[in-house]
Amino acid sequence: MGTSPQHTQPKATRRVAIGDVIFGGDERPIISGPCSVEPGYVGHAEAAAAAGADVLRGCVFKPRSGPNRFQGIGAEGIPLLDEARARTGLPIIAEPLDGDDVRLLRDHVDGFLIGARSMRNSRLLEVAGRTGLPIILKRSFAATYAEWLGAADYVRATGNDDVILCERGIRTFVTETRNTLDIAAVPVLAGRTDLPVIIDPSHAAGRREWVLPLALAGAAVGAAGIIVESHPVPDQSWTDSCQALSTPELRTLIEQFRRLTSLRELSST
Ligand code: PEP
Ligand code: MN
Repeated sequence: MGTSPQHTQPKATRRVAIGDVIFGGDERPIISGPCSVEPGYVGHAEAAAAAGADVLRGCVFKPRSGPNRFQGIGAEGIPLLDEARARTGLPIIAEPLDGDDVRLLRDHVDGFLIGARSMRNSRLLEVAGRTGLPIILKRSFAATYAEWLGAADYVRATGNDDVILCERGIRTFVTETRNTLDIAAVPVLAGRTDLPVIIDPSHAAGRREWVLPLALAGAAVGAAGIIVESHPVPDQSWTDSCQALSTPELRTLIEQFRRLTSLRELSST
């Protein structure tokens, strides 16, 4: 896919609301919470809220690399989503792995997260899109921009334009990080789509000490927001413990992300 002129026209960024939190406007919201919903999740969500998160992660179904790994707490975790939402007043997103999950989750969440592994599942994109709920669409680790935007079009073809693109790192020859964050996705896609682009520094870094600098790189290039994993006791996190931020680390990240974002806005006015 080249950079033909028809793909380089800057477009105004669409505003996409998750609950009452707007992505693509002046604010750069932060989505946070543990990788997966575990017992104690409501407390984990309250900790993320207290640190300044705007939207909660509440993933009860987890796509894993093998069937013998924890697959998520499942539908029995859904009441925890209701309780976290009620206690914090924050909107919540969760990842469906199939159409059944969409139906189970739709009345308990404010938006869906379509994970990197599911980006190419066009039927799932259609089923999720038809709910009318906003969709955060992660980039597959091996998708071109055109393939990623094509996946977004599956949602949009259902009449649902509330799509937020999420860059979470791609597979390259670099093995130190979990994935290679393609930070260029933010400025490049700004010229190719009206959809807001957020970044996920957690699944790109794979290690907690690299999450903050990658998040700040996102702020520097004008990402519309970030999604970052956090846990009050990171080492006890059932999934992705290596990359989970503690609550104080999350608070620091949010403060620095907001400071850099406002500096960037000041310098562009
Ligand atoms: C996640 O956000 O929980 C996740 C599984 O990430 P990804 O789909 O980017 O691998
Ligand atoms: Mn994770």
